Amino acid sequence: MRYFENIVDAIGNTPLVRLRHVIGEAAPTVLAKVEYVNPGGSVKDRIAVRMVDAAEKSGELRPGGTIVEPTSGNTGVGLALVAQQRGYRCVFVCPDKVSEDKRNVLRAYGAEVVVCPTAVAPEDPRSYYQVSDRLAREIPDAWKPNQYANPANPQSHYETTGPEIWAQTEGRITHFVAGVGTGGTISGVGRYLKEVSEGRVQIIGADPEGSVYSGGTGRPYLVEGVGEDFWPQTYDRTVCDRIVEVSDTESFDVTRRLAREEGLLVGGSCGMAAAAAVAVARECGPEAVVVVLLPDGGRGYLSKIFNDDWMARYGFLATGGSGATVADVL
Ligand code: PMP
Repeated sequence: MRYFENIVDAIGNTPLVRLRHVIGEAAPTVLAKVEYVNPGGSVKDRIAVRMVDAAEKSGELRPGGTIVEPTSGNTGVGLALVAQQRGYRCVFVCPDKVSEDKRNVLRAYGAEVVVCPTAVAPEDPRSYYQVSDRLAREIPDAWKPNQYANPANPQSHYETTGPEIWAQTEGRITHFVAGVGTGGTISGVGRYLKEVSEGRVQIIGADPEGSVYSGGTGRPYLVEGVGEDFWPQTYDRTVCDRIVEVSDTESFDVTRRLAREEGLLVGGSCGMAAAAAVAVARECGPEAVVVVLLPDGGRGYLSKIFNDDWMARYGFLATGGSGATVADVL
């Protein structure tokens, strides 16, 4: 019989799928690392299990302890899944702009969700940063993973995602492209691929226009999960050879094309990374092998990117739209 002892053991070993339609005239092989097939639906399952492993080992997380993290998205799902299987309580703190659907996903896994007002400054005691700090201090045996500073985040990619890609391409990968949020993916995978290829593999970060990684000042954008307005500790500035800036319009256009033309129903940061991969591929010859990591699935974005009214409202569709700007929604 072939089976996993529990669902946590099914994390990782995701497939590489060749992109054939969205790459246009580009000559190289472009392969997508499809992370939505992880049990919690995203690449963040990988960091969740490694951050918990490391905290158990160091004694920061004790049996029956509580995981407290300010997250509403993919990292929360990964942590909730691992916590549940290992008998930890989970408390997530999120701003009230996070949709009820997203909060319900976390609750479905058995996590508790504390909702805080979005419209307060980060230093306000009601802000979700301050509330999560206070809960981590006050709940006995609480542990805060802090994905933006936890070395197990990039390390999980150094130990799993990077070696998988190298083995799957039989060492023929020439370029690796990924979106940058905490920087864990690009830093961990990038460091591994640089080492194993003796510097041959080019590492390319994809970043929304306005984010710090591509020289922006934190100007608002709508693509979720990537870009920052500060420099996280988990981002290794020495790993990227290059950062490609992608607009929301292009990110969402490619996201919709991935669903329609490649059968990959994925999130907006996937369209962003794929758009950057296509730009890179256009500059390469047929011998190049470009691997692009697609972090999550598209079901969480059905009422946004895959909804024509929403797209038109923000001017992302060629026709229609009231001309509302990013600032109107934030
Ligand atoms: N896309 C999505 C949807 C994400 O949730 C994240 C994580 N913030 C990323 C991309 C970026 O990954 P990383 O944090 O490893 O840079």
